[in-house]
Amino acid sequence: MRGEVREARRPRKRGPAAGKLAEKAPAKVPEKAASAPGEARKKDGRLQSIFEVYAVGPGPSSTHSMGPERAAKLFLEALGEPPPTKVRVTLQGSLAATGRGHWTDKTLVRALAPVPAEIVVDLKTPDSKLPHPNTMVFQAFGAGGVPMPAYDWTVCSIGGGNLADAEGHPVALADPVYYPVHNISQAMDFCRANDLAFWQLVEQTEPDVWERLEGIWEVMRETIRRGLASTQIVLPGTLELARRAGIFHFRAQSLPKTRRDLALISAYALATAEENAAGARIVTAPSCGAAGVLPAVMYFYETDAGVARRRILEALATAGLFGASIRANATVSGAEAGCQAEVGSACSMAAAAVAQLNGASLLQVEYAAEMAMEHNLGLTCDPVEGYVQIPCIERNMNAALRAVEAANVALITDGRHMISFDDVIQVMASTGRDLQAAYRETAKGGLASLWRQQIAQRLGGPGPDGGRGKR
Ligand code: SF4
Repeated sequence: MRGEVREARRPRKRGPAAGKLAEKAPAKVPEKAASAPGEARKKDGRLQSIFEVYAVGPGPSSTHSMGPERAAKLFLEALGEPPPTKVRVTLQGSLAATGRGHWTDKTLVRALAPVPAEIVVDLKTPDSKLPHPNTMVFQAFGAGGVPMPAYDWTVCSIGGGNLADAEGHPVALADPVYYPVHNISQAMDFCRANDLAFWQLVEQTEPDVWERLEGIWEVMRETIRRGLASTQIVLPGTLELARRAGIFHFRAQSLPKTRRDLALISAYALATAEENAAGARIVTAPSCGAAGVLPAVMYFYETDAGVARRRILEALATAGLFGASIRANATVSGAEAGCQAEVGSACSMAAAAVAQLNGASLLQVEYAAEMAMEHNLGLTCDPVEGYVQIPCIERNMNAALRAVEAANVALITDGRHMISFDDVIQVMASTGRDLQAAYRETAKGGLASLWRQQIAQRLGGPGPDGGRGKR
């Protein structure tokens, strides 16, 4: 594989969006709120297609591998023929801090091939100077290595594999689908007025929804089957973390019913999360890091509880609507708002889906989703060594189980509750803005920091905090 990675010698000045690339790049949707520098971007609250939440691509991270892969391909596409002699990509913010652990560098080199890629890691520019915590600057070079500055392109990976330019305008949304509602409260009003379930609102809005969801579900199922059958002993990376989905599945068979059900859901969540950590093809739901949660419970209901395929797809439609609302009104990016935005959102989506499968009313579905998010508020992102492994993999399992609990609790009630889903999503976004950068996918705080201190102690050094972590 051609390509090189080097540290930035000096911080790059942030360039404007895309020069000629802006003219040549695929369709953009212009009416989007610009982001506040260094903060979770403000949203215009327009619900877009659930297929912006369900994207298929390579793990381990929708922001760090899937988004950069898309950006690299768009960049080359926009440059056209002849191809550049080299592309330089400067990674900034969380992409710089955890890009190696999330394989951003390798993904970019692969996506740009056969054009040689130079990956620059800019650890010096603070988030406050960036348009987004996940920013990339693409630069092309022509014959003789001459820079082509007209093509410089600043692009941000905003979550779920989606991209925005430096002004916050979505990039490359072909034929965007917009819902007639802006949030879940409005969706409930719309559904009540028209005697619809949530999934029927999706059906009325999205063209070819069942065919497309069938394709998404097939990828989710295939990922779980692959993960359960994997013969890989440990995951790639320096942690050498053992894969456990297969053994969980095996041991589940001999457990009494209730424990078996929980163990099966756990095994399915591990299967996808481990496949994601191995860089395999997965579906974001709503991100790569949280991709194991929703498929685990849906797979259990179809495979072990015998629920018909059509009802599984309807549950995925409703889960997608809740994910689309989080994406429109808050964020699904760990770099913007911590893990509450990723695993918290996945837990909410799964809770809504499970509630619907069990005959919940609109209000009970909304309550299940709200409860699932409410009790994930403040969940930080602190991946050890920057790999989407610890705490991510177990956290998927935990969230899948929690989603079932939230749905069960909502179903015991009549659905009335004090905090709405829309409100809790706003709280998630504001909590995310309050989180220190160390807890937003930079691998600088929490478990990541503890791990580095422990490694340093074992090696006899003072550790990254100058020894304060020593006991
Ligand atoms: S801790 Fe959560 S948000 Fe962070 S990388 Fe892991 S799954 Fe993603």
